[in-house]
Amino acid sequence: MALIVQKYGGTSVADTDRIKNVAARVAEYHRRGDRLVVVVSAMAGVTDKLIKMAKDITPLPSEREMDMLLATGEQTTIALTAMALEALGVPAMSLTGAQAGIVTDGVHTKAKIKNITPRQVHALLDQGKVVIVAGFQGQTPEGQITTLGRGGSDLTAIALAAALKANLCQIYTDVDGVFTADPRVVPTARKIDEISYDELLEMAGSGAKVMQLRSVEFAKKFGVVFEVRSSLNNNPGTIVKEETKDMESVVIRGVSLDKNQAKITLVGVPDRPGVAARIFRTLAEAAINVDMIVQNVSHGAASPTTDLSFTIDKPDLPKAEKVIDGIRKEVGIKKVQANQAIAKLSIVGVGMRSHSGVAARMFDTLAREGINIDMISTSEIKISVIIELAKADDAARAVHAAFLGS
Ligand code: ADP
Ligand code: ASP
Ligand code: MG
Repeated sequence: MALIVQKYGGTSVADTDRIKNVAARVAEYHRRGDRLVVVVSAMAGVTDKLIKMAKDITPLPSEREMDMLLATGEQTTIALTAMALEALGVPAMSLTGAQAGIVTDGVHTKAKIKNITPRQVHALLDQGKVVIVAGFQGQTPEGQITTLGRGGSDLTAIALAAALKANLCQIYTDVDGVFTADPRVVPTARKIDEISYDELLEMAGSGAKVMQLRSVEFAKKFGVVFEVRSSLNNNPGTIVKEETKDMESVVIRGVSLDKNQAKITLVGVPDRPGVAARIFRTLAEAAINVDMIVQNVSHGAASPTTDLSFTIDKPDLPKAEKVIDGIRKEVGIKKVQANQAIAKLSIVGVGMRSHSGVAARMFDTLAREGINIDMISTSEIKISVIIELAKADDAARAVHAAFLGS
C-alpha cells in the first residue's frame, strides 16, 4: 500500500467542476488501496484577488494581516475538496496547515518551514481517510498564521512528502510537466521527461513558475523525487531527481523568463567601504531578496561616487523604496530610480559546464533581434540577462529557437 502525496494547483481547483474532477482522480487512487494526502491551492485567481483587496485599502498592509487574509483562499478549497470526496463515498477530512503540524518561522508572507509534526495526518490516515491539507500556510510556534510565499503549496506538498516519507509525490498542474520554456510564451516548447534538481532550481529561480523555487530547494535537500504532471489528462509528466550522467549531454535544458522583477538604480552613491554592505543589509533585514547587482565605475577623484543597480521582485518595490528612503540621507545617495519595465531571460543546463560558447551564442541571438542587454549574471549552469520588458517574449522565442529548436 503506497503513501502518495498529491498537490493540485489553482487552475486544477478553479471551480466546483474542477474540484469534482480532482476528487474523482483521488477516489481512483483510494480505490486501488493507496493512502493519500492531498494538498490543494486556492482557486485560480483568488490569492491575487485577496491581495488586490488589501492593496485597495492600504498600499503597505500589515504582513501579519496579509497572512490571515491569504490563508482563507486555501481554506475554502480544502473544505470543498473534502466534501467532493465524501460525495463520492470516499472518507476524507480537511486540515489547515497548522492542523497538519506545519510549523514555520515568523517571517510573515515568506515564512520558512521549521518542522512538521503531522500527528493528525497520521491519525486520519490510520482511520482510512484521505487527508486534504491546505497548501501555502503554516503556523508559528506562538500560534500565528503564516504563508510560505507565492506558489507555496508546492512547498507544502514536498515538505509533507519528506516528513511522511511518502512513496510518491505528484504535483498536478495545468500543463503536462516541466517544458523547455513556458509553453504559453514559446509555443514550440517541449515537455522534458527528466530534469535534475539543480536545473529546475535555476529555472524556478529565473521565473519558470511551474514549481516554487523553495519547494525545489527542499526537495533537493531531502531527496524527494517528484513528478510534475497534468490534472487534465493521464499523460506521464516530468520526473525531478538528482542529476544523472546522461543529463550533461544536453547543453541547454530550458529557457525561462521572469517578468516579475524591478530594477532600482541608486545614483551618486559614495564609493567607500561599508556603503554597499549598509544598503544590502538594510534590504535583507526587510526580507527583500536582491537578485542581480551591478556597480558602475566611480566618478570624481576627491569624493568618488558610483551608481549601483540591483533587481528585486516587483511586489517588493514599494517596501524597498521605503527602506532605501530611510537610509538615503545617512548614506548620501543622490537619486533613486525604479524601473518596472524589465524582464530577466535565462538559459539553464548542466551541459553548460562541459560546452563552451554558450554565452556568445545567446548574446548573438539577442543582438540579431535588436535586443539590448542591460545586466548579465551567470552561474555554473545558467546565464541570465536583463532586457526590456516589451521585447521579452520575442527574446525568449528567439533564444529557444537558437538552442532548442523551433
Ligand atoms: P499551479 O496553479 O498548478 O501551481 P502555476 O500557474 O503555478 O500552476 O504553474 C504552471 C504554469 O507555469 C503553467 O501554466 C505555465 O504557463 C507556467 N510555466 C512557466 N514556465 C514553465 C515551464 N518551463 N514549463 C512548464 N510550465 C511553465
Ligand atoms: N495560492 C497561493 C498562490 O497563489 C499558493 C499556491 O497557489 O501555491 O501563490
Ligand atoms: Mg504554482
